[in-house]
Amino acid sequence: MNPAITKVCVIGAGVMGAGIAAQVANAGIPVLLLDIVRDPADRNAVAAGALARLQKAEPAAFMSSRAAKLVEVGNIEDDLARVAECDWVIEAIIERLDLKHALYEKLDAVRRPGTAVTSNTSTIPLGALVEGRGEAFTRDFFITHFFNPPRYMRLLEVVAGPQSDPALVARVSDFADRALGKTIVACKDTPGFLANRVGTFWLQSAVNAAIELGLSVEEADAIAGKPMGVPGTGIFGLVDLVGIDLMPHLKASLTSTLAADDPYQAIAIDHPLIDRMIADGYTGRKGKGGFYRINRAEGKRKEAIDLATGEYRPQVKPASLPGAAQKDLRALLALPGKVGAYAWAILGATLGYAAALVPAASDDVVAIDAAMRLGYNWKYGPFELIDRIGVSDFVARLEAEGRAVPDILRIAAGRPFYRIEAGVRQVLGSDGAYHDIARAEGVLLLSDVKLTAKPLLKNGSASLWDIGDGVAVLEFTSKMNAIDGEILKLIGAAVPLVASQFKALVIYNEGSNFSAGANLGLAMFAVNIAAWGEIEKLVAGGQMALKALKYAPFPVVAAPAGMALGGGCEIVMHADAVQAHAESYIGLVECGVGLVPGWGGCGELLARWQAMPGLPKGPMPAVTKVFETISTATVSKSAAQAMELGFLRAGDGISMNRDRLLADAKARALAMVPGYAPPAPPTFRLPGAGGKAAIMLAVEGFQAQGKATAYDGVVAGYLADVLTGGEADLVDTVSEGDLLALERKGFLALVRKPGTQARVEHMLTTGKPLRN
Ligand code: NAD
Repeated sequence: MNPAITKVCVIGAGVMGAGIAAQVANAGIPVLLLDIVRDPADRNAVAAGALARLQKAEPAAFMSSRAAKLVEVGNIEDDLARVAECDWVIEAIIERLDLKHALYEKLDAVRRPGTAVTSNTSTIPLGALVEGRGEAFTRDFFITHFFNPPRYMRLLEVVAGPQSDPALVARVSDFADRALGKTIVACKDTPGFLANRVGTFWLQSAVNAAIELGLSVEEADAIAGKPMGVPGTGIFGLVDLVGIDLMPHLKASLTSTLAADDPYQAIAIDHPLIDRMIADGYTGRKGKGGFYRINRAEGKRKEAIDLATGEYRPQVKPASLPGAAQKDLRALLALPGKVGAYAWAILGATLGYAAALVPAASDDVVAIDAAMRLGYNWKYGPFELIDRIGVSDFVARLEAEGRAVPDILRIAAGRPFYRIEAGVRQVLGSDGAYHDIARAEGVLLLSDVKLTAKPLLKNGSASLWDIGDGVAVLEFTSKMNAIDGEILKLIGAAVPLVASQFKALVIYNEGSNFSAGANLGLAMFAVNIAAWGEIEKLVAGGQMALKALKYAPFPVVAAPAGMALGGGCEIVMHADAVQAHAESYIGLVECGVGLVPGWGGCGELLARWQAMPGLPKGPMPAVTKVFETISTATVSKSAAQAMELGFLRAGDGISMNRDRLLADAKARALAMVPGYAPPAPPTFRLPGAGGKAAIMLAVEGFQAQGKATAYDGVVAGYLADVLTGGEADLVDTVSEGDLLALERKGFLALVRKPGTQARVEHMLTTGKPLRN
């Protein structure tokens, strides 16, 4: 097997280099980050400045404060020889061939043979990069093209040259997949590779068509956004986000490298309005504004630019599209007038262009789809979109307009690009035959299991699946995976079934969020009809269901990804172990809606903090920590931070790659099976009324400083009651059951209060907390 990658050097500490260095550090690997010497008196200033910016970046670049410590800064004049300590050198300096050449020459003299050297170039062909370099360097060199921001964008395009060492490419790719969490898309050495090639064409054709058809930016974005499975920003909102000034650069680089007859050349036109916007500093969100802006002089009025006159005017909400057209591409394309015409102008051109990239830029339809999903956040890739339109209809419309029909569409001959055959996903190859889509070893997807399996249990909000080897998966299926009575019921039914027929249970789903928390809408409905008994049943029922999971006679592993809030967090904490995706945002947010955690979250977090090494003795330190975390509704910004906050335990696992999460969780569950015994119930030594008084004094201090509201004080009182053990004396031992009773009491008292009800209503209607 290949030796591991234990240290990485990133050269160029700009937007990309710094972000890549942070992600390497997030994987727990030390990184040397080098840049030029700009100030002879402070030779590392450029890289050090980049590190300082990384630590303040929003969204966060580092997953934990520990990760930030793994980045060491230096400069290329004094420290280049230290690349000999590294197994992988990533070049991310400015996009100039002469500078890259000069750097490679110096690198070649000091690197260890066999150390991979890769470039993050977006536009320079690999052939040009290695020109003039010897055989050994060329063998160890290839392109690894990350997307911005490197922590959050899952795509990594890898371009190997004819002389690149396949074993080295495989070794770096494997590291980027498992440790950095990236999906590797192998590309040929063609201009723009895959995602930017299609993405730039898409943006340009969509801007052109909006101007030609006389659409407003709002109308264009409403058509080109959600209905096409594209992020809600649509086209103009996206260009604002990435920077309008980036467009001419992308255009210049592609027009200079693409063949003269490439269809992009014909659409790469300049728009005087956009040139003027850039010249005047209207470069988008980072500039004075873009196609959209907030006019602060007019009381934060939302404005959009008039594409005909170039003047800003108040934003206008476009007429909503017919229901069917919001979900069904065929219905969207069939709409009369400008709407249908605009949808076709984009899809006909862009999807046709993507299809024409086979085989020159890629032989692989799956790779092109993955590139657009992961590099541009499309919900469906180009070929998946063509399938949704229907290959025959798509081709017929291209033909009717006298446009070229790409070979791969002829090969498809009306058949879809994707199909499911005997429970296996298949894709159409350029040989005209269907081939199984193989998942990499260690990748297990519930969506694949579901192609052939029938659920063991199922209701409107959850299902139970058999994923093989004696492991069952509990999946939430409710809206936003909110926890409701149905999920609790399914847990109740799953526990005996798993106990009798399986070895272990994993709680996992493939939604964008593990769970948004308890279903507040249902709770509010009960409040409105004063069905207090129902609410009490929901609280007590939840406690019972979660304790049933905790004390089940088999190991339970929770595998969250995305948000796990409130009740979702409580489910995670009741598992014996957690295997979390690195991008897990976990927290007990009940206080934000005027409640206290009611499904055992208080006791679970207290127990973890009582056992936390290094905490001063006595009952108060753990209580204070937990009070701070819950009363401020703190949510972790990563799984690593969730560990620091006590939501996860030190021994829990983190998977960097989302696609590996289920297999990792399953392996963790199976490893716990031999000799498994449920945990012993914890007991708590709590500070009682004196502790509560101390906490409330601090809360009054926050109120006096304006950091806490009047109603925050009310909620804090109930939370303090639970966490300090209510009436307990300092010496009393409080049981888990006592704490659960205190939670119920606090929750049921608060839910009757108008202050809490106002918070819940506000959250349900606006999605934001009310600060009453
Ligand atoms: P940037 O301008 O933000 O940063 C470039 C950095 O390189 C600067 O800190 C500069 O001081 C440093 N530098 C310049 N010459 C150097 C040298 N000889 N030695 C060491 N450092 C040197 O640029 P960026 O956006 O981070 O882009 C870097 C590379 O990544 C380019 O090849 C670009 O095409 C590619 N890329 C950029 C993006 C993006 O979205 N910005 C995305 C993918 C790839």
